[in-house]
Amino acid sequence: MVMLVDVPRMTAWIRHTGAERIIADIAARLETDYARWPQFDKVERIAAHSPIGVIELMPIADADRYGFKYVNGHPANPARGLQTVTAFGAYADVHTGYPILIAEMTLLTALRTAATSAMAARHLARADSEVMAIIGNGSQSEFQALGMRGALGITSLRIWDTDPAAMDKLQRNLEPHGFTVYRATSARDACRGADIITTATADKALAQIVANDWVEPGMHLNAIGGDCPGKTELDTDILRRADVFVEYEPQTRIEGEIQHLPADHPVTELWTVITGQATGRTSPAQITVFDSVGFALEDLTALAHVADAVQGTEFAGEIDLVASPADPRDLFGMVVSPASVPSSR
Ligand code: NAD
Repeated sequence: MVMLVDVPRMTAWIRHTGAERIIADIAARLETDYARWPQFDKVERIAAHSPIGVIELMPIADADRYGFKYVNGHPANPARGLQTVTAFGAYADVHTGYPILIAEMTLLTALRTAATSAMAARHLARADSEVMAIIGNGSQSEFQALGMRGALGITSLRIWDTDPAAMDKLQRNLEPHGFTVYRATSARDACRGADIITTATADKALAQIVANDWVEPGMHLNAIGGDCPGKTELDTDILRRADVFVEYEPQTRIEGEIQHLPADHPVTELWTVITGQATGRTSPAQITVFDSVGFALEDLTALAHVADAVQGTEFAGEIDLVASPADPRDLFGMVVSPASVPSSR
């Protein structure tokens, strides 16, 4: 039997444990996994593009565990009553090749993306950061706020979305949880006085969500929405002024904000900051950018965390996914009984 964490079980587990707690736990585990980065067999994700979206496969392995996520990105989906991003994934034993866990990953992606943003911010944002701007108030936004509160204690938000209904939703969801929410009148207004700017917009376009002259010394930009060729959010002059940090450079060169910069523009992989081989923030006035696109290691870490956390609990189901004949070489025997095989005479 393979462990199954479907939508009802994932939802119940997150409600039971609390999204903020899980984000913090995944962030801590990510820090450990990023510190052993060279042990992972890494590859850029495999993308199938269409004019209005993308479907991606994100595989990764170490010596013991293999994982993959199937994820889509369709910015026009909300107008059709569908989500921009949905996902599911698998976690497997490298030694037998057998799957251990099949999981819903739409919710898990929001948790792990917030955990990754939190981990990056702990190394790149000013430790005295108090105010966070969130531009793009869709599915990821509340999770991002919870991640930053866990990382830096931030409770003051300046929010902006081109759709006022998305701002209403974020305000309604977060104010009861101890956040102070200022509804900005524009993206520029949202950025005013912010210590951290998170961009989480969805548009399959070379958008300019944040302009260079809105960015003040000392700010940290957590750019999570630009994650596809032809889909970016930042004025490129910001990238030239700032120190840019990435997950896996070969993938970010294709998908991230830096796709607009020359291939030799210097960037720093986050794992080198975590291991102390490179420096993160070096001064209060430095401008830092986390050019996040989402990397397979974050999904593997999240799947490992779910498997460990739910095993043996009411939140773990089972699915009979691997055909297992009594004689491992008699697969045919599972589908045809000897009596039903027509005789040759
Ligand atoms: P969503 O569709 O639920 O929300 C996006 C929001 O952005 C919407 O409310 C929309 O109105 C708003 N928006 C669009 N254009 C805007 C603009 N110009 N200014 C202000 N607001 C604007 O999508 P989501 O699930 O929240 O995802 C947001 C983005 O993050 C997507 O592009 C997605 O691909 C990306 N993403 C990245 C990662 C990662 O690891 N880096 C993970 C998950 C999602």
